[in-house]
Amino acid sequence: MDEPFFTASTLIHPDVLIIGGGSAGIAAAAGAAETGARVVLLEKNTILGGKATAAYVGTVCGLYYRNDDPVVRYAVDGFPRIFAEKLEILSNSSPFFYNNGLRFLPYDHYAFIQLCDEVVQQSKVTLYLDAHLMQVEREDHCIRKVGAMIHNRAVTFHPGVVIDTSGECIVARLAGIDTVENQTYQATAQTFIMTDIATDDEQKLRLSLLRSIRKGIDSGLYSQHSEMLSVIPGSLKLNRAVFKLGLSSEIGNDPFEITRLQLSARYAVAEIVHYLQTHNPLFKNAALSMIAPEVGIRTGPRNVGKTILTKEDVINCRKVEDAVARGTWPIEFWIPGKKPHLEYFSFNDHYDVPGRALQSAASKNLLFAGRNISATEEALASARVIGTCLMTGYAAGHLAAGIINNDCYEIIIATVQRSLFPE
Ligand SMILES: Cc1cc2nc3c(=O)[nH]c(=O)nc-3n(C[C@H](O)[C@H](O)[C@H](O)COP(=O)(O)OP(=O)(O)OC[C@H]3O[C@@H](n4cnc5c(N)ncnc54)[C@H](O)[C@@H]3O)c2cc1C
Repeated sequence: MDEPFFTASTLIHPDVLIIGGGSAGIAAAAGAAETGARVVLLEKNTILGGKATAAYVGTVCGLYYRNDDPVVRYAVDGFPRIFAEKLEILSNSSPFFYNNGLRFLPYDHYAFIQLCDEVVQQSKVTLYLDAHLMQVEREDHCIRKVGAMIHNRAVTFHPGVVIDTSGECIVARLAGIDTVENQTYQATAQTFIMTDIATDDEQKLRLSLLRSIRKGIDSGLYSQHSEMLSVIPGSLKLNRAVFKLGLSSEIGNDPFEITRLQLSARYAVAEIVHYLQTHNPLFKNAALSMIAPEVGIRTGPRNVGKTILTKEDVINCRKVEDAVARGTWPIEFWIPGKKPHLEYFSFNDHYDVPGRALQSAASKNLLFAGRNISATEEALASARVIGTCLMTGYAAGHLAAGIINNDCYEIIIATVQRSLFPE
């Protein structure tokens, strides 16, 4: 029997329904739409980009091989590379060469939003913003109905395939499908932007920041958590920089905790900005111009796929027949109150993400991409970076269209590989 939510709703029948318009969701929409599928994308915020824009993480990692070469070497072609190259132009940015052979792309947050809007428009995807997934009905190992509140109106979807790119396994959780909770809590962070800083030398800014914060802590003027403040590498331009404040408080399952975290993060930023303005000459005339609307939460629950990407796969750079993404970023763990812990694999090498890690073990028409793929928490601490999310998202879009068309798995994989890894 239909539940009241579903009977009161407007009905829509897309081929592919994507939940979440972050990096993975945008790529999934582009991937599915280029096969001719009718695609609907639901996003609960009023901007696209997910963590990349709402939490303003500031750099795209995972696109390039780690090495000491003077020129970056892409690990991927096709949609993720085109996206990155456009982002580079719109942000007036270029790949940043960091310690230990790491390379990443600093970006401008408005440029990221603009590019996501452009991808959705050009792909002719039907986008619903302010659209919150509310209800999922499963029957015979398939997702049959999905209910959403869109601008406070109930809408029901009868999708062919659902791709969960919410980062939170929201579809599986509402459908009563098992998910995996994290064992280790990873530190959250709040980003913010300051203008009118009296230098454009990032090294000088970094050292000066370290010195004044150490002084503040030693003299008791400032609290310990300010130690986790850093400048996002490559972000200082025209006396404006993006800062990231690591937060040491943990959040659990109490629904109120997210509110407490958001409020305390904003308070901590106001406190640190005031301290810098009054104690560091480089910040004397500086102003706080933006606090990212969302605290950056790195991990959520994980889906269970037909296979699970593991730490051994990552560290040993394991290759598989059904590769749909190439991971190049090290395993990066953020224990609250500590500097990040990185575990590297070889220069100029990558691990493969199997297509089976994007397919639900419990539901025939449920796929996932981005930071809620089927992986252990160590493997995900590498695979969650934006570059890899763009790859798994694009692949999930193609896999979804393949399921609709009853294509054989090997043929869909070959199509994805031709597009992403043409050499
Ligand atoms: C503090 C921090 C720093 C980071 N630094 C970097 C970095 O420097 N470089 C890098 O590459 N990566 C970085 N990452 C990781 C990276 O930003 C994310 O893992 C990646 O952006 C995830 O993309 P996604 O599309 O999988 O998920 P998200 O970006 O989380 O997108 C999920 C989308 O789903 C939407 N959604 C959720 N629930 C619902 C619902 N019920 N209904 C409708 N929509 C819903 C959300 O609003 C969101 O837009 C960082 C992450 C954090 C938290």
